[in-house]
Amino acid sequence: MPDLSIILPFHNEANSVRQLLHRLYPVLGSLSLSYEIICVDDGSVDATFAALRHERDLDQRIKLVRMARNFGKEAALTCGLQLATGRAAITMDSDLQHPPEVIPQLIEKWRNGVELVYAVRRNRNADGQMRRWLSQAFYAVFRTIAEIKLPAGAGDFCLLDRKVIDAVNALPERNRFMKGLVAWVGFHQDVVPFDVAPRQDGASHWNFFRLIRFAFDGLSGFSTLPLRIWTWGGVLVSCAALAYGGYLTLRTLIFGTDVPGYASMMVGILFLGGIQLLSLGVIGEYLARVVTEVKARPIFFVAERVGFDS
Ligand code: UDP
Ligand code: MG
Repeated sequence: MPDLSIILPFHNEANSVRQLLHRLYPVLGSLSLSYEIICVDDGSVDATFAALRHERDLDQRIKLVRMARNFGKEAALTCGLQLATGRAAITMDSDLQHPPEVIPQLIEKWRNGVELVYAVRRNRNADGQMRRWLSQAFYAVFRTIAEIKLPAGAGDFCLLDRKVIDAVNALPERNRFMKGLVAWVGFHQDVVPFDVAPRQDGASHWNFFRLIRFAFDGLSGFSTLPLRIWTWGGVLVSCAALAYGGYLTLRTLIFGTDVPGYASMMVGILFLGGIQLLSLGVIGEYLARVVTEVKARPIFFVAERVGFDS
């Protein structure tokens, strides 16, 4: 059993494989810990797996998993955590946005008894403007309504003690919003700040729609408020409608009928129609996830493993 498992998800990152490992080795070498590096190839269609295989030939501490297709980063991390045998694991991006040089600080905290150490980003300078707005909005909403607390700037760069790994592995859900799951299990947590580097090569895999879906994965996984809030919205609108109805009745009795009113009628119909569609949409988002959970399909399939026993 190694002391430390490094878990790296790769999706079309052939050009950063060499440089990432090149920067990891000296850092890991300076720790006087035994380690394994678990590289999860998440359905890459470029030369990523060939590059990883080459690295494995050079150093047997590298272990490889090739997923049957692209299952997404959360599935890749889930797979890595299931296969990790270390007393602790570190998950990090493979595009060099998470600098390996931060690892000794994570280890330092772990040695002092912290069971879950987050590397938190000091700023979001590496992200585009739209991405920054979306994340800010997401975290503002998440902080307000979610049942868990995420440290500001926390992502998927963190160290998990064996106890935390086992706890996360025991969670059966298919909707794997990993940073939420990791935060949810609890344990003694602390943070280490770091500066996000620009992406080494290529572009982020998250476009607008994928970010929105990811945001909803997070919210629906850790809050039921978006579902329940419509009860109160409904109560409020009904009360307002009742009051307005009473007012209209009285007015008609006193002043007689008043035919004009097209504008207010349209506004009322459209507003309520919009609210109804929105609330139905939210129910649909949750329902879709319930369907996924009920189908209970495996989170991922592995096509090939290199370097693992049996
Ligand atoms: N990734 C993955 N599967 C995917 C998308 C991304 O394993 O379907 C990996 C990717 O190779 C990288 C990490 O997840 O190591 C973060 O991806 P990316 O840099 O695109 O996200 P961002 O840094 O923009 O959040
Ligand atoms: Mg990145």
